[in-house]
Amino acid sequence: MALEKVSNILQEAEKRNTSAIAFDAFDYQTIYSCIMGAEAVKKPVILMLYPTMDSLITPRIFAETVKDLAKKVSVPVGLHLDHCSNYEYILSAIREGFTSVMADGSTLPFEQNVAFTKEVVRAATVFGVDVEGELGHVGSAGNESDFCNENSYTTPEDAAAFADATGVASLAVAIGSAHGHYVKEPKLDIERLREINEATKTPLVLHGGSGIPQEQLVAAFKNGINKFNVGTEYFILNAKLQKDFFGSEEADKSPFGVVPFVRKNLQSYIEKKLELSVWS
Ligand SMILES: [Zn+2]
Repeated sequence: MALEKVSNILQEAEKRNTSAIAFDAFDYQTIYSCIMGAEAVKKPVILMLYPTMDSLITPRIFAETVKDLAKKVSVPVGLHLDHCSNYEYILSAIREGFTSVMADGSTLPFEQNVAFTKEVVRAATVFGVDVEGELGHVGSAGNESDFCNENSYTTPEDAAAFADATGVASLAVAIGSAHGHYVKEPKLDIERLREINEATKTPLVLHGGSGIPQEQLVAAFKNGINKFNVGTEYFILNAKLQKDFFGSEEADKSPFGVVPFVRKNLQSYIEKKLELSVWS
């Protein structure tokens, strides 16, 4: 099927009381393995490009690759620009074919975050593009204070006010997760998540998905998370597979180098990760 709007995928997830899973990718293999892994287990998937990785793959090539592969499978595939706080960059990504973007104003004070996000929504709406906002800051997993400090968590009142004022299609919330490798096991504030979910009708997004224990994820998906972002874990696996391949016997036999080996193993990882998303 053709590319699906991310907002449609998230609304379907909400109806099913589960979460769609979104993966950051940065080359043909990481995109291909995600989409074919999703097809194998018949689950929707969302492909995301992180703007700082645009020297590895341009936004246009990323968007075209996702669109082309989406046509070859039967499951819904979404295309999304991950964390971006630069208005011009967001518009250029829309021009290059992105149908969903993140307007990340989470480091700004509340009113400025609202103003920035609202401006992105206003422009994106002209092109029928979805916008994800972020409220409460999801920081770095390398800093314990970034994910253990409740003062930086999203409050239900602010979430409702932010969603109303900006008109975002989805909202990333801070409830105890962080980006990268956790220095200490995270503990998601599920009670707070439940309250945020009750306070707003907007689908909620969980960032910093690499290393959160599975039972916490299951609880988060049941209590309002409809989009779950994974990046670090997938990238590290990709790097490890390259290393493993070059030390293996297969390396002497493969006419296509590392590609078939990495693809096969990345796809198995994606299939397994997508089990968390309860779609039937
Ligand atoms: Zn993130």
